[in-house]
Amino acid sequence: MGIIEEVFTIELPVGENFRIQRCRYGSEFIEDKKAKRISIVSGIHGDELEGQYVCFLLGEWLRNNTNKIRGIIDIYPAINSLGIDSITRSVPFYDVDLNRTFPGSKNDFLPAQIASGVVDVMRGSDFAIDIHSSNVFLREIPQVRIAKSQEETLVPLANLLNIDFVWVHDAVTVLESTFAHAMNTIGTKTLVVEMGVGMRLGYAYGHQLLKGILNLMVHEGILEMEPPKEVRFPIQSHVGEVAYLNACCPGLFVPAIEHCQVIEQGTVVGHIVDPLSGISKAEVIAPIGGILFTLRAYPIVYEGSLLGRIFGSNKEEK
Ligand SMILES: [Zn+2]
Repeated sequence: MGIIEEVFTIELPVGENFRIQRCRYGSEFIEDKKAKRISIVSGIHGDELEGQYVCFLLGEWLRNNTNKIRGIIDIYPAINSLGIDSITRSVPFYDVDLNRTFPGSKNDFLPAQIASGVVDVMRGSDFAIDIHSSNVFLREIPQVRIAKSQEETLVPLANLLNIDFVWVHDAVTVLESTFAHAMNTIGTKTLVVEMGVGMRLGYAYGHQLLKGILNLMVHEGILEMEPPKEVRFPIQSHVGEVAYLNACCPGLFVPAIEHCQVIEQGTVVGHIVDPLSGISKAEVIAPIGGILFTLRAYPIVYEGSLLGRIFGSNKEEK
C-alpha cells in the first residue's frame, strides 16, 4: 500500500493552510542506496487535469502490483492545490504562474515559498515526470518537451515514455524559472509531458502515458517485471521542423480536420468565420506537410492567436 503524507504546509493569511500531499510506494527501499526514486508530478497548473488521471491509474496499478516494486515511487497529483480547487491555472490571490517562480525562496511571497518547498520535497529523486495538459486553448498529442541543453541526458529517457513526439527546443530565459529546469539543475532527470487539453480528461492518453511510465520504471530498475509490450517510439523533432499556424484576423476558428492527422502542404486546416455577417474571413492553410500535433480547442481567436502546430519531417533533404 502507498503511504499518504502531507509533505508541505504553509499557513495562509485567510486562516487556511496550503498543503501538498503525496502517496509513496516502496518506502521499505528508503535505506537501500542502490534503489532509485521517481517523482510523478501533476497540477503545477491548476487547470490541467490529465496528470491527475495518470496519477490515479498509476496508484491503482501499484496497489495491485506491490510485489514488483524495487524502488521508491512518489505520486504528487496536485502541486498547485489551491488552483485545482478553484479551477485556476495560476496561484489564486497572487495570479502568478507557479511554473515561472522556480526555484523559489523561503523568504519571498507565497508562490515562491511553494516552489521552494516543492524542490526541497523532491530533492534526491533520480527522476521526475511533470505532467501538463496544455491549457484550455490548445490540444496536444502526448509529447515530451526538452530544452536543447538537456538533450543528451533526457532524450533517451523520453524515448521510453510511449509518447508520440519528442520536441527539443532552444531554451529561452523564461524556461529557467520552471520546475523542470530547477530539478534538472539539482540532478533530478526531469521530463515535461504535455498532452490533451486544459480542464478535460482524455482517457486514452492517460493509459498511453501509464504504459510509458511503467516502461521507464522497468528500464531503470524501479519495477522488476517484463517491460510492457508495443511501446511506441516517438517522432524526434531534430529530423524536421515545426511550423506555426497563427490567426490572421479575429473571429471564430472552425477546424476542418481532426487533431493529430498527417496532412499535406496546402491542406485547409480550418476557417476563421464571422458569426455576425456570416462571412468566412480566412482560410487557414498548412504551410508544410506533416503531423498536426497541436490544434486549437477554444474557438474564439484574435489576430496572432495560435491555431496549430505542424511537425514536418525533412530528413530526406538533409
Ligand atoms: Zn502546464
